[in-house]
Amino acid sequence: MSLWKSIPNCDTLRPCLSLRTNSQILYPMPALPPDHEARVQRALVSLQGLSVGDSFGERFFGPPGRAQELIAKRLPPPPKWSYTDDTAMALSVVDTLVEHGRIDQDYLAIAFAKRFNDEPDRGYGGGARQILDSIGAGVSWRIAAAEPFGGEGSQGNGAAMRVAPLGAYFADDIDSLVDQALASAQVTHLHPDGQAGAVAVALAAAFAWQSRDSTTPPSAADLLRFVESRMPPSETRQGVRTALSLPSTTTVDQAASALGAGYRITSADTVPFSLWCASRSLSDYEAALWATVSALGDRDTTCAIVGGIVVLSAGLHSIPERWILSRESLSLRYRPRPQGLPNP
Ligand SMILES: [Mg+2]
Repeated sequence: MSLWKSIPNCDTLRPCLSLRTNSQILYPMPALPPDHEARVQRALVSLQGLSVGDSFGERFFGPPGRAQELIAKRLPPPPKWSYTDDTAMALSVVDTLVEHGRIDQDYLAIAFAKRFNDEPDRGYGGGARQILDSIGAGVSWRIAAAEPFGGEGSQGNGAAMRVAPLGAYFADDIDSLVDQALASAQVTHLHPDGQAGAVAVALAAAFAWQSRDSTTPPSAADLLRFVESRMPPSETRQGVRTALSLPSTTTVDQAASALGAGYRITSADTVPFSLWCASRSLSDYEAALWATVSALGDRDTTCAIVGGIVVLSAGLHSIPERWILSRESLSLRYRPRPQGLPNP
């Protein structure tokens, strides 16, 4: 039986966590940064871009000919666009930041597992299902994350697909961003490359936010250099270096061929291509997503990553309203704090 199912009348995450330790007193109210509300608003912008991208990309699975026809004509798929595990996990990342102002790994692990328990059919991969099942049964994430993949941990793209809102939250503090992106990844991705992908996407999101009002729009290489110079050594970083080496005339198909487009569902096979796509369309959300989905591949995830980054520079208004209306509504626990009130 799942942990929270054994707790009567438990309908929110915070009471569950408190009850889990048998003491509300042992669960202190975290100190939030003075600009917490502004940071949360940035994270919510990224979450919109991520979730629309995720649900948009998901609708292009199915017969390849049909997907390619829609892409060639730039015809958005008919609603409703259901979101997948990318958004479900990003919602938990944002919930954690709202509550704690940082990544509390125990809180995040239970949030992931609770959403999985509530909605297991969001397209979670086999490794993720195993980890989240274990956490839901009461196993520490430190043990659960080590169980699959022969004890090496996951080097999949799952930590990268959910992390752009974290990059937005820490966009003004790059040192903390790197630490927090790693912390968010470790809950499910023990392998260093799975973690490196999360750091890379969070860095790209911060870069996009910082460049939103730039009088001189950054080049694609600017974003890739910013990321590559700050991310940990890894196969994924090698892929970002390859992306940097591609000539400006490179087509999407050529980039996908050189970098991968997520068919292997690894960080190294997904993140470099996604960053390459985002870097070339930082001011145009629609163009970024059409280019990204045209490579097919792991299209819900590549579009989630690109959407969560590009919206931070292009702005919320850059997402077509009909796309937002096509996506199913999001179930975030966050409620805006009334203006003028101090943080608790
Ligand atoms: Mg997915």
